[in-house]
Amino acid sequence: MDSLKISTEAEAVASRLHKSGLLRTQGLIGGKWVDAYDRKTIKVYNPATGAVIADVPCMGGKETNDAISSAYEAFYSWSKLTAAARSRYLRKWYDLLIAHREELGQLITLEQGKPLKEALGEVSYGAGFIEFSAEEAKRVYGDIIPSPLADRRLFVLKQPVGVVGAITPWNFPLAMITRKVGPALACGCTVVIKPSEITPLTALAAAELSLQAGIPPGVVNVVMGNASDIGDSLLASTQVRKITFTGSTAVGKKLMAGAAGTVKKVSLELGGNAPCIVFDDADLDVAVKGALAAKFRNSGQTCVCANRVIVQEGIYEKFANAFSKAVQNLQVGDGFTEGVAQGPLINEAAVQKVESFLQDAISKGAKVLLGGKRHSLGMTFYEPTVVSDVNGEMLLSREEVFGPVAPLLRFKTEDEAIHLANDTNAGLAAYVFTNNIQRSWRVSEALEYGLVGVNEGVISTEVAPFGGVKQSGLGREGSKYGLDEYLEMKYVCLGNMNSN
Ligand code: ADP
Repeated sequence: MDSLKISTEAEAVASRLHKSGLLRTQGLIGGKWVDAYDRKTIKVYNPATGAVIADVPCMGGKETNDAISSAYEAFYSWSKLTAAARSRYLRKWYDLLIAHREELGQLITLEQGKPLKEALGEVSYGAGFIEFSAEEAKRVYGDIIPSPLADRRLFVLKQPVGVVGAITPWNFPLAMITRKVGPALACGCTVVIKPSEITPLTALAAAELSLQAGIPPGVVNVVMGNASDIGDSLLASTQVRKITFTGSTAVGKKLMAGAAGTVKKVSLELGGNAPCIVFDDADLDVAVKGALAAKFRNSGQTCVCANRVIVQEGIYEKFANAFSKAVQNLQVGDGFTEGVAQGPLINEAAVQKVESFLQDAISKGAKVLLGGKRHSLGMTFYEPTVVSDVNGEMLLSREEVFGPVAPLLRFKTEDEAIHLANDTNAGLAAYVFTNNIQRSWRVSEALEYGLVGVNEGVISTEVAPFGGVKQSGLGREGSKYGLDEYLEMKYVCLGNMNSN
């Protein structure tokens, strides 16, 4: 693959996006596209080539406060619309996201690097949260409680929490936003989005489409730039009633602590350390296919990526061979190239993290079966890697590697597998491969995780609740449960019913 071809492709995509009006490079405050007040900018790069795609505003506290004011003002009318009206706006937004699926997919590949096929999958998945929210908007039911006293009637109302601050990461530039903004808007909340500065362009394109869908100014605002200044302003504001965050555990803890000052509601989707347990009784092909999908999606850069492949001793050698063969077939390259399954890592720091984890494992006795080094394409491309003889003491199994490295650990008994799997502070996703139905239930119940895939490596969908336990987070996104995160419950007691 020659690098010239890559950059020409990227330029063509950027120019197409520009023509369709989706290449937005300003923040959105109160329905107006704006620069940073001091005109400072930051650059957005194509991780496959290092080329600059665009400059976006480097905003801070002032712009964030204005975005909060706009959202606060818009809340008054947006929350008073009928659920049916909000549903129609969301449906229109969904339709536009799907109508622009190709361009949005290209934009995701351009700024994030994932293969175009995966990027298009993200657009469908991400848009799905808006469609589902449009439908669920109409089902925010309250309750009537049988009264213990004859002259009283008791009701429960569900009402929107208010202005929501949504802070999102770079690995799903669209879906991490829509899974927050969809339910927030459905419930009647308004939002200030802070996308990752690494991938703000998809967020801005989605926001542009929200305006085209007729969603009123101020309901959706986007600011980006100085993350801690923006975060501090969102936390300090008494008008912001909820923070929803997806990202690192370290930042999540900071936000949770910061939210205490104004007692905000908080939802957190933080790091995982997903075990992928392969039992002797698993179907080998199913296990290989599932582990491959769970590990190597987005080059290993998702919080539900298998971080530890824990394999029973009877199937260990067979699995290691078949899995390595499958990994070897993963084509590495620019995400725009047909057939590519592994794009670049997001930046140099990500590659260095992979290298240091691998170094640590090798120094403690792990063996590299495949890969184990930077790819000859250069930049941040890394060879899909399989490492055997990994144990629970190595960084590779203690922390999230967030890269294309599959560490294999060996176990003897089911109890040992469960102990190994749960021996972590994280608790987001786990995967189990077995053909024994009792075992599949037993192990699913024993795993301290928010999501469990049995004989399946890709389980996220907008219709099911996504979220972690332990230090992987608080709250759930997607499904009917996801709306609760944006609702307050109000108890109303109607008294004096016996008078007329
Ligand atoms: P990642 O390693 O996935 O980039 P981060 O937690 O650093 O995870 O980033 C996730 C999101 O949190 C990004 O939008 C980032 O800009 C934002 N962020 C980072 N630090 C802070 C902070 N102190 N306050 C608010 N947001 C922050």
